[in-house]
Amino acid sequence: MAAGLYIHIPFCRSRCIYCDFYSTTRLARIEPFLAALHREIGLSNDSFWHNQHFATLYLGGGTPSLLSPEHISTLLSVLFDTFTFDSNVEISMEANPGALFMQNVPGYKKAGVNRLTIGVQSFEDNELKFLQRIHSSADALAALRAARRAAFDSLGMDLIFGIPGQSLASWQHTLATAVRERPEHISLYGLTYEQSTPLWSRYERGEVSKCEEELEREMFLAGIGLLKEAGYEHYEISNFALPGFRSKHNQKYWDSSPFLGLGPSAHSFDGVKRWWNVDDLTVYTKILFDGERPIEDEEDLGLLERIEELVLLGLRRKEGMSLVEWEELTGVVAAQFIDLLQHRFGAVDRGEGFFFSPAANVLTHYKNRLCLTQQGLLLYNTICENIFSLVNKELVNDWRDRKNKF
Ligand code: SF4
Repeated sequence: MAAGLYIHIPFCRSRCIYCDFYSTTRLARIEPFLAALHREIGLSNDSFWHNQHFATLYLGGGTPSLLSPEHISTLLSVLFDTFTFDSNVEISMEANPGALFMQNVPGYKKAGVNRLTIGVQSFEDNELKFLQRIHSSADALAALRAARRAAFDSLGMDLIFGIPGQSLASWQHTLATAVRERPEHISLYGLTYEQSTPLWSRYERGEVSKCEEELEREMFLAGIGLLKEAGYEHYEISNFALPGFRSKHNQKYWDSSPFLGLGPSAHSFDGVKRWWNVDDLTVYTKILFDGERPIEDEEDLGLLERIEELVLLGLRRKEGMSLVEWEELTGVVAAQFIDLLQHRFGAVDRGEGFFFSPAANVLTHYKNRLCLTQQGLLLYNTICENIFSLVNKELVNDWRDRKNKF
């Protein structure tokens, strides 16, 4: 399986109220960071990664568009000199409309970036202000159009719903504006309240009221309906793409391909083990200048974690989770698993497969895959929890024991 490469650029012009990704606003530290990153690239070229073919490269953050085209060009040269990439490698870069110099956009294309993802979040200025984004709706449109002028033929756009004060009508306006611009890829995220963020503190102090669950549900369904009608394929719970424009990089995370993450706080996975870097730029730089890799910790995935990952990642996707992999991991035959799910959710057989619970209609079982219906996507967390409660340690071990005896 071809690998993915992620580079975390840990700088932002200012911090958004909801974000818990690691970044600093001390932009004077960009040059020392790049020097450290180049060292990390050299140190990461061990026998495992040296033998991988990378099909994707993703520059995320933080705000990669704070780097100049020259920075990006040098970085890509160092990466291409170090690792082996497929000839048609997907090279994505995130851009914040408030930290994107329009004259730089053609330079990114020339440097080799072939996919630009723009953090629009909303086309309503009052919502952008609440989120403490540093751009307006007009800035986002200008960024999208500059990218088109620079001949980017693969554009992504991130949007957020469930913002306090957002109405269904304002969300529909954001969606309609997005669709008019026709980016090849659109991601819809419900606003989350992460504990380390100012948004969480404001919520705890009672200064912010969360969006009503029913309204958030309606917004999600409105997004699915509008984007599908506009020709976008809903291929993952939060992701939509025009035909042929799924994010290859994100698919690496969902299908358990190996991926290497470089930069502070970046995560890596080699198929068996996960590890992650320190999330502090000062410590990151110091460790690298001492000649070591800046790894904070690592973990081997145990059987239960691998089963959980199979369910959590699989059910997010249109193709669902593989029951063949389920059998390989658990030793429990798919028919038994389906049987248990039928008891848990109730089911009706409609010939092609099972539709669990005629009322809830949440899961389908088709060609060795288990998938969530649109209704099921709305209950993703609950359904995963229900499956995990079936997949408790005793049950899997019990099945394993029985299987070994036969
Ligand atoms: S610009 Fe992006 S990475 Fe930076 S704080 Fe805002 S959401 Fe987080």
